[in-house]
Formats: sequence, C-alpha cells, structure tokens
Amino acid sequence: MDEFELLVDLHGGAARQGPGSEHATRQAIALCGLEGKTGLRIADIGCGSGASTLVLAKALDAQITAVDLFPAFLEQLEANARDAGVADRIDTLAASMDALPFADAQLDAIWSEGAIYNIGFEAGIRAWRPFLKPGGIIAASELTWLTHERPVELSQHWEREYDQVDTASAKIALLEKHGFQPIGYFPLSEECWLDNYYRPLQQRFSAFLERHRHSDTARQIIAAEQAEIALYERYRAYVSYGFYIARKVGE
Ligand code: SAH
Repeated sequence: MDEFELLVDLHGGAARQGPGSEHATRQAIALCGLEGKTGLRIADIGCGSGASTLVLAKALDAQITAVDLFPAFLEQLEANARDAGVADRIDTLAASMDALPFADAQLDAIWSEGAIYNIGFEAGIRAWRPFLKPGGIIAASELTWLTHERPVELSQHWEREYDQVDTASAKIALLEKHGFQPIGYFPLSEECWLDNYYRPLQQRFSAFLERHRHSDTARQIIAAEQAEIALYERYRAYVSYGFYIARKVGE
C-alpha cells in the first residue's frame, strides 16, 4: 500500500475524517437559511464517509451529491446512508474537487467540512462559485487562527503543512473578494477535535500498525498524527477550524 492507501485505511473506519460535530453542522444549517425550502440541490465536497452528508440529508429537503476522491470512503458513506434511511437522497461521486462536473448555476448550496484545504480555501471558493445559483450558499470549515498572535512552534508547523492558515477576518475578506456575502462564522469547539476526531483516531493506531506489520510508512503516519495531536492539545487556544457560511452575490 502506498501512503494514500494507508491514510484511507487509517481514517476509513471512523465516523468522521476531520474535526466537527453534528451540532456544528446543524449550527451551520441554521445560519444558511435553507431550512423549510424544498427540492434543494446540494454538493458535499470532500465528504469522506459522510458525517456531514447524513446530517444534511436528515435536516433539509435536498438531493445531495457527496463527492470524494477516494471510492472507499464513498462506499462507507453509502452503507451509512442506508442504515440512516436517507440513501434515496444521496448520490456519490468519485471526483477531484478541482475538476468537478457540475453545471453552472446548478446548486443551492456547496458544503465542505475539513476538506477545502486540499486545493486551498481561495482556489476552492473561486472554482466552486460558478456552480452555485445566484444567492446560493457556501458553507465550509477551514483551519483558522483564533488569535492575532500565536506561538512560533504552532505557526511553523501549520504554515509548513498548510500555508493558507489564517485568521477568520482574513478568510472572510477572501469570501468578499470573490463574490460572496459572509453571513456566518463560528469556530469549532474542542470537543469537535478531541472527542469526535483525535480520540477515536488514537484508538485505531495499534490495530493499524499491526495490520501493516509496523512498516516504515505506517509508523511514520502514526508519528505524524501523534505530533499533530500533541500540538493541538498544547495550543488549542490558538487554532481551530472556522465554519464559514456565505451567500453568492450576483450571477
Ligand atoms: N468532510 C469529511 C472528511 C474530511 S477529511 C469529514 O468532515 O469527516 C478530507 C476529505 O477530503 C477526505 O475524505 C479526503 O479523501 C478528501 N479529499 C482529499 N483530496 C481531495 C480531492 N482532491 N478531491 C476530493 N476530495 C478530496
């Protein structure tokens, strides 16, 4: 297995592949103003095994296209959707988020939790905006500095991993620059990281290492995850995901 396959294997068994919660998804749904509307068309981009997709399917009257690069996550999502009784509202699509097959002005909302960083927040909002109907909603969570200043060790780590990490005000300015009216922002809570993402992930480490006979790549992956978790635990006051909700302005 190459590194990507190992990462899919490590994260595949989980309920979610990044920080978040049902509560946070519902909070973003409440802000986006789509509740009560009927026949919505939504894409959930970088959906993983569908933590947010299932919440959207339950909360809104919508047909949802769940998009991920890795078919293994989508198969899991389909099984989860069947169990939750919402399979008829969800179609899956294996595609890359920088080459999506949607038509212009097709979607009422684009959802993306913990995934837009794969192409970068600015590139993502630019590339996806045409798919939205006028007045359509983008709701995306994105790594965010919670404070104006922060410890050097933390800055250096995240700037190396994701050079677009920035403050909420900078992300909101990007939304405005690229034709969106910001309508909501909130940071994800510590529970979203620790209880819902890192703790369940840690519980899978030893079985993962055994499955892959402690190969060098498997051990490197676990070491990197452990370092990231330790950094989060130490510096959680300075960094989180921000949830950004914005409405498309103009055509
Ligand atoms: N939204 C999910 C998953 C977040 S993890 C959740 O909150 O649990 C990021 C997801 O982005 C992973 O599922 C990964 O497979 C997917 N991904 C990575 N690169 C991608 C790309 N280029 N196009 C589409 N999806 C991608």
